[in-house]
Amino acid sequence: MYAFLLIVIIIVVIVWWRAPIIGTEWSKQTLYVGLLDAWYGGSIDDRAHALWIDDDSTEGVFKVKKIADEVGIQPCFAVIADRMTSEVADSLAAWQQQGAGIVLHGYRHEKWWDWTEEQIKEDFTLSYLRLQEQGFDTTRIIKMAVPPHGCNNRIIRRVIQQQGLQMISGATLVNPDRHVFQLGRIPITVDTDTAAMRRLLQKAYEQKGFVIFSTHSSIPPIFSEEKTRHILQMAKEMGFDFDFYK
Ligand SMILES: [Zn+2]
Repeated sequence: MYAFLLIVIIIVVIVWWRAPIIGTEWSKQTLYVGLLDAWYGGSIDDRAHALWIDDDSTEGVFKVKKIADEVGIQPCFAVIADRMTSEVADSLAAWQQQGAGIVLHGYRHEKWWDWTEEQIKEDFTLSYLRLQEQGFDTTRIIKMAVPPHGCNNRIIRRVIQQQGLQMISGATLVNPDRHVFQLGRIPITVDTDTAAMRRLLQKAYEQKGFVIFSTHSSIPPIFSEEKTRHILQMAKEMGFDFDFYK
């Protein structure tokens, strides 16, 4: 037992220090966050929660809003502060007033890999100012950040923590609960196997987990309106609590 724990500790330490060097971005972050989650243990939430975050704030947001209204949930948008058309920005600001979530996703969606702490902080400052200019209520921005391109390293984590935010990492997993710092997401794309998704959701529901769905309505070839609607409906019917902001 102790030997096993020691091995886990060693792996965690190695992955922690070497991230983001080992393997591909996807598997490395999933392994890394997964190990942290294993260490963290079970849920301290009283029920299962779900959140849907759509990335990149392009024209696709109109499809997202339509699906969210049909399913009867509030969507959440990871916005690129300085790269929205006025039509998209005006709509998102109005939907925010009606309860939709807004999450920061980089001022201009640049890669943060080699950035200094100061540069990343500046990106946050510029994002808040730009969103204010466009009519968003920056006091109600969701307390999470989605680093552009799934970037994840110690400097990025430190800045996000200093900002008082949770971090949406590039990990593909269900979170133990809503309180872990590094969160993973479950993507919904044209290739998603809905039967496998049902099994995953059932398990997550029983464990009172926190599922964050991710979509890229900004990339039409991989975005499936039909599957997204179907899976969100499924999660809602299972009893996941989508009222994350309350
Ligand atoms: Zn993005």
